[in-house]
Amino acid sequence: MSRIAYVNGRYVPHREAAVHVEDRGYQFADGVYEVCEVRNGRLIDERRHMERLLRSLSELRIARPMSLPALSIVLHEVVRRNGVRDGIVYLQVTRGVARRDHAFPPPGTRPAIVVTASRIDPAKTERYAAEGIAVVTLPDNRWERVDIKSISLLPNVLAKQVAREQGAREAWFVGADGTVTEGSSSNAWIVTSGNEVLTRKADHAILKGITRTVLLDVLKAHDLKLVERPFTVAEAIAAREAFITSASQTVMPVVRIDGKPVGNGAPGLISTALRADFSRYTEKS
Ligand code: PMP
Repeated sequence: MSRIAYVNGRYVPHREAAVHVEDRGYQFADGVYEVCEVRNGRLIDERRHMERLLRSLSELRIARPMSLPALSIVLHEVVRRNGVRDGIVYLQVTRGVARRDHAFPPPGTRPAIVVTASRIDPAKTERYAAEGIAVVTLPDNRWERVDIKSISLLPNVLAKQVAREQGAREAWFVGADGTVTEGSSSNAWIVTSGNEVLTRKADHAILKGITRTVLLDVLKAHDLKLVERPFTVAEAIAAREAFITSASQTVMPVVRIDGKPVGNGAPGLISTALRADFSRYTEKS
């Protein structure tokens, strides 16, 4: 099946899908995005992702490109036209196309929108989950509003590349105070020896992951104690378990941090149980 993208009102062949050279996303990274998991052909937690999109847009004073019901139709249509059963749907909105000037473009400039979908082999993700992944830690050199899901991802790109070059799947950002903020494309969690599940509170220093939000319900159902506080790299290495969360990976066990094993170096029981039960708590549309 040939791939299709949605670009500013049209469904076009993926290889011909293009935006204007003066799209502000291209020139200034002046835009926001969302990634929704697709499972069995259905969107996972679309409502929450769309709420977060609206929040990101409003924080950056970018107009909504279309109504949410219309956007929902486009998202489902792109998934359908690409025959994606398991994978992700990607949505990007920028401040539009205008003559290059740092300040906002003239009023009435329409935001630009792109939607793509791609397949991810669930068996591959399961293999990573069965083995657990390695993470490396790096200084958090991002701006102070990473709660906004902006397409401006240079520090995240560089961090992920360092991780890959060191044989790790993810990089954890560490703030000036020595505590872990989050991953380059995921939220960071540990389980303490007292079986407390720790993650940072969702302030401006992290992206409030949709997977993170859903996992809070799973924790309640499993009678697990959640503590929203920062933790250091040393605490994480000494933890019983560690894991990351993101839409495309749900709950992914972490078994090495900076080359040192976490727990016995295998995916933890709690992480594995949370992963197994996660989808029961998601909304499907
Ligand atoms: N933090 C960052 C920096 C991310 O890029 C992501 C993935 N979008 C997350 C956290 C996890 O968010 P979600 O669970 O909504 O995918």
